[in-house]
Amino acid sequence: MGRAFVYVIVGGGVAAGYAALEFARRGVAHGELCIISEESVAPYERPALSKGYLLPEAPARLPAFHTCVGANDERLTQKWYKENGIELVLGTRVKSADVRRKTLITATGETISYKILIIATGARALKLEEFGVRGSDAENVCYLRNLADANRLVGVMQNCSGGNAVVIGGGYVGMECAAALATNRIKVTMVFPEAHCMARLFTPKIAEFYENYYNSKGVEFIKGNVLTSFENDSDGKVKAVILKDGTRLPADMVVVGIGIRPNTGLFEGQLHLEKGGIKVNGRMQTSNASVYAVGDVAAFPVKLFGNEIRRLEHVDSARRTARHAVAVIMAPTTGDLDYLPFFYSRVFTLSWQFYGDNIGEAIHYGDFSSGRFGAYWIYKGVIVGAFLEGGSRDDYEAIANAVRLKATVKDIPELKRAGIEFAFRV
Ligand code: FAD
Ligand code: NDP
Repeated sequence: MGRAFVYVIVGGGVAAGYAALEFARRGVAHGELCIISEESVAPYERPALSKGYLLPEAPARLPAFHTCVGANDERLTQKWYKENGIELVLGTRVKSADVRRKTLITATGETISYKILIIATGARALKLEEFGVRGSDAENVCYLRNLADANRLVGVMQNCSGGNAVVIGGGYVGMECAAALATNRIKVTMVFPEAHCMARLFTPKIAEFYENYYNSKGVEFIKGNVLTSFENDSDGKVKAVILKDGTRLPADMVVVGIGIRPNTGLFEGQLHLEKGGIKVNGRMQTSNASVYAVGDVAAFPVKLFGNEIRRLEHVDSARRTARHAVAVIMAPTTGDLDYLPFFYSRVFTLSWQFYGDNIGEAIHYGDFSSGRFGAYWIYKGVIVGAFLEGGSRDDYEAIANAVRLKATVKDIPELKRAGIEFAFRV
């Protein structure tokens, strides 16, 4: 059995949702587009899972956060896909792809053929087992990538009120989940191998601010250490974690956020890969002209960085690469994507944004004690990156602009003094 479509999107996450809206706006005909997703719900804003979804009161629940509400745009429920003649094949994994024949085979055995394919398979959470630790399948150990994981995490968290949680990993999932657990009155200890949290982005000074803030909320940090094993009770539940230096931490629950791997498996040996993802050009086109890749799985040239190939694991990049691929497909004269990398996070009452690249020298400014501070990264005399905590909408626009325009810095002490004002003068 089989079905044929003009356009097929494999994967039904953030990028797929934004691509669907762009297709609809550009006038895709009924019956031309199909989205195949392993998840059982229509595309949703994944960032909600580590924020609003975990709140103790009035938590966010679907259908409230289907795409594209995260960009203040239309909310696409299953009904919307139906009304727009877009075939949404949910709860269905694509198990093989043949880009020469232009076919996909699903786990249910159906062959789906396409003229143009968009790969939007995102990524999967790395498992502790991949680092030689066994037992992370215990019922009170949680990962967080999709809605099913989030539901599981909420259940475990609700059974743990007043108890101890150990959070493994000091990246985005670790930081956001630790904040959510603390808000749910759970005592949190974070464990990670680096010298400070968010080591790939934060400077030690920025990290110190957040670590102090977390400490004030009762969260403790164990740095430069990793988990080596779990101690279980007679039911198989984890009751403690053992660290490399022998430390034993009692745990009623564990959350693991140790990074991701892009879901490239279907296309390995068929398409060019780079930076762990599927390599595309500035039009999101892979090494096969009928196949596009977007979102976490795509490695694309960033014009602003001299067309260096980057793979970005952030929602704004998923949204924009998805829209761009559809623009190229529906309006072939569309040029290359000109993207300014943008990352953000919200924890407790804090909120930061970052634009650009964190290379070169970091110059901090502002008042770290009051929580209104930032940093510029300067490379070869120009601003290449900017971070700001607690800014207004105008402030964020100003720092984004300074990075986009590669503002020249002649006087570093003056930049430090001017702080955010420097960006407004650009
Ligand atoms: P995904 O959204 O992961 O979607 C991939 C989809 O493909 C999934 O539905 C998956 O089931 C499906 N799929 C994969 N393989 C197959 C297959 N073989 N067959 C069928 N379907 C398949 N970024 C930010 O910038 N800010 C944030 O605050 C933020 N918060 C986040 C919080 C969490 C908990 C997580 C996990 C991520 C967060 N991110 C955030 C990152 C952001 O969500 C991702 O960058 C974004 O979701 C990537 O979109 P995507 O469509 O490429 O992949
Ligand atoms: P990250 O890559 O952000 O962080 C992983 C962290 O785990 C790093 O500190 C890493 O250290 C550490 N680590 C790696 N291996 C081990 C190990 N064996 N034991 C202990 N720690 C280890 O990934 P996350 O899992 O936090 O996030 C998953 C994805 O979700 C990312 O793509 C992220 O962008 C996205 N996300 C984004 C959010 C946002 O933008 N606000 C919010 C939530 C998720 P090292 O650096 O040394 O490898």
